[in-house]
Amino acid sequence: MPERYDVVIAGAGVAGATAAYFLARRGLKTLLVDVKPFERAGDKPCGDAMAKHHFENVGIREPSGEELEGIVKAIDIISPSEEVRYRVAGDGYEVNRVVFTQRLINDAKDAGAEYLDKTQVRKAIIKEGVLRGAILWSRERGEWEVAADVLIDATGMSRAILRSLPDDWPIKDPIDPKDLNVAYREIRKLRAEIEEPEVLRIYLSPSKAPGGYWWFFPYSLKEGVVNVGLGVQGGMGYPLPRNLLYEKILIRPEFSDSAIIESGGAAVPTRRPLDTLVWNGIAAIGDAAYTVNPVHGGGKGTAMISAKCVAEAIAAAGGNVDNASLWGANKCYMEAYGAKQASLDFLRMFLQRMSEEDLEWVMRKRVVDAEDINIMATSGDLEEKIVARALRLMMAAIRRPAFMSRLKALSDYMKEIKNHYLRYPETPEGLREWALKRDKIYEEFKARVL
Ligand SMILES: Cc1cc2nc3c(=O)[nH]c(=O)nc-3n(C[C@H](O)[C@H](O)[C@H](O)COP(=O)(O)OP(=O)(O)OC[C@H]3O[C@@H](n4cnc5c(N)ncnc54)[C@H](O)[C@@H]3O)c2cc1C
Repeated sequence: MPERYDVVIAGAGVAGATAAYFLARRGLKTLLVDVKPFERAGDKPCGDAMAKHHFENVGIREPSGEELEGIVKAIDIISPSEEVRYRVAGDGYEVNRVVFTQRLINDAKDAGAEYLDKTQVRKAIIKEGVLRGAILWSRERGEWEVAADVLIDATGMSRAILRSLPDDWPIKDPIDPKDLNVAYREIRKLRAEIEEPEVLRIYLSPSKAPGGYWWFFPYSLKEGVVNVGLGVQGGMGYPLPRNLLYEKILIRPEFSDSAIIESGGAAVPTRRPLDTLVWNGIAAIGDAAYTVNPVHGGGKGTAMISAKCVAEAIAAAGGNVDNASLWGANKCYMEAYGAKQASLDFLRMFLQRMSEEDLEWVMRKRVVDAEDINIMATSGDLEEKIVARALRLMMAAIRRPAFMSRLKALSDYMKEIKNHYLRYPETPEGLREWALKRDKIYEEFKARVL
């Protein structure tokens, strides 16, 4: 007889380890599995920035000691010319992704979860449309089966479980390459001291980072060390981010004679969330469920939100794992973050079509200011006052009327899509109709605004 678990989690990144912690705390027999060895837990290319509020909201201890590379006090958003700079205040961290993820795994183990490293989850075992368990593999043991009521895909962008599910399961939903951001980053030790090391910098420049941005995130606790990277929109035929970083960014004087400590690239999903995080005993969290912020690409904090929503729904369902019993996971996620994420998806598409000149103008004229960015980041709303300010500017300068009317339409559609996600169906039966309506709003938005 195969060993039996309430829940098996494929992937022990931030998402999987967080889910294991919350599930084990609620007394569920939980197995957390990762193909990587524990020494490399959480080791994937990342900017490593995390806002403090995520820890408070989800109820995960804030990083400290060895888990930290830096303290963050603000983010500067810098215009294409680099002459305009908005400072958005906000507390956060640069985490040491390995030590931090190891702590999450250890907390899950302390709560009672079992953990297997160097082990791959090969696929879900599904019989007559119902999940029965999973096939695992390790070099030492070869292949074996475990029985499980729920299998959570927390394998990041590889979506190792979801990608081989039947096409008509809405949890599968493969990504459009244009909804990906392809990013590359290096961790470098600079020769000179970094000014204001507790301020992260995001540089907007379509000519340097088309459909994305480049970043300079100092590790304030390691003198002169910075995480520098660049992301571009996928599926557009843009040059590789590594080439752009070398050709356009690393030639700057601040990088001369700097030493590479680490390098690597990966793709990030920057779109609306999956329509459902649960289906027929399968659940999805983190990057596998497209929970990343579509505008800035931060996904660790939101991975934790999705993990907690799914874990709490499984625990609350008391052993029932049908779609209706687990549906609370979706309501929880859409309310906590998904609705805002959908609204930011519209903003992301809008920004990706803005020219260098328009971006510069918007920032120079303060059509949107640092406070507005803070509000947008927190609520996903493009405030009426931004549109009003833009219209006033247009009247005064008689400039860019087409751009201004698109901005007004963007604000309206962001509101509409957010409200639609907040009206997420109460039961699985309502999903199809809700998704069709959502598709219609997307189509209209693309036709009228982009
Ligand atoms: C260049 C770059 C910069 C970024 N910068 C930031 C940032 O500054 N801040 C931020 O918050 N986010 C950032 N992100 C996004 C962030 O890294 C992800 O959103 C986050 O890591 C997602 O966590 P996850 O646990 O869902 O997936 P992952 O971290 O990808 O973890 C998935 C885990 O699954 C394991 N796995 C895969 N397949 C299997 C299998 N078949 N069986 C068992 N295990 C498996 C992997 O080994 C891995 O450990 C960045 C991403 C990139 C690419």
